[in-house]
Amino acid sequence: TDPATSGAARPSRLVVLAGPTAVGKGTVAAAVRRHHPDVWISVSATTRPPRPGEQDGVHYLFVDEAEFDRLVAEDQLLEWAVVHGVHRYGTPRGPVEAALAAGRPAMLEIDLQGARQVRRTMPDALFVFLKPPSWEELVRRLVGRGTESDEERERRLVTAKAELAAEDEFDVTIVNHEVHDAADQLVALMTLGRASDAD
Ligand code: 5GP
Repeated sequence: TDPATSGAARPSRLVVLAGPTAVGKGTVAAAVRRHHPDVWISVSATTRPPRPGEQDGVHYLFVDEAEFDRLVAEDQLLEWAVVHGVHRYGTPRGPVEAALAAGRPAMLEIDLQGARQVRRTMPDALFVFLKPPSWEELVRRLVGRGTESDEERERRLVTAKAELAAEDEFDVTIVNHEVHDAADQLVALMTLGRASDAD
């Protein structure tokens, strides 16, 4: 058989996890990282300064504006976007391609603008929308996090409202009632994805 078309040799499916701000994408990604080390998770570059406890190279690659400019100019990002109108975030291309080439299930946790870009360049990826149980719950989580200024929080709420309407652009929706359930559902999708790819 042609190794390029046989199930075993085919790269794993890329899962793109997106959803409104504060829905808990980062927390779900952290649960996948902790409990499913077989899943490779992209580390984004960002111009946002680190929050307390965030480590360079683990949670993000923290870069300055000039370094981000260089990544864009050299076409080293699979996608990038200005998120919440302030900082730039982007997915380094090389590590994603390497993970897929190695046959690892791979996941990006990015915003909606980024997901739309990946939809254009990698249409075979599986696009998963993480949804809050309710709008009230989303507001509660956004306020409860307490890491942003009032102005920043207001800006994120406006973004979140628009982002909730994007659900139907996605292949699958997961409701984030409980972080471990959501993480397990996500990993199950990757496994199912691989099984059906091998058809
Ligand atoms: P935070 O600053 O709270 O860590 O993340 C803010 C937003 O940026 C989240 O919605 C997150 O999904 C998004 N984000 C993180 N990394 C990337 C990336 O590489 N590309 C894009 N487009 N968005 C990202």
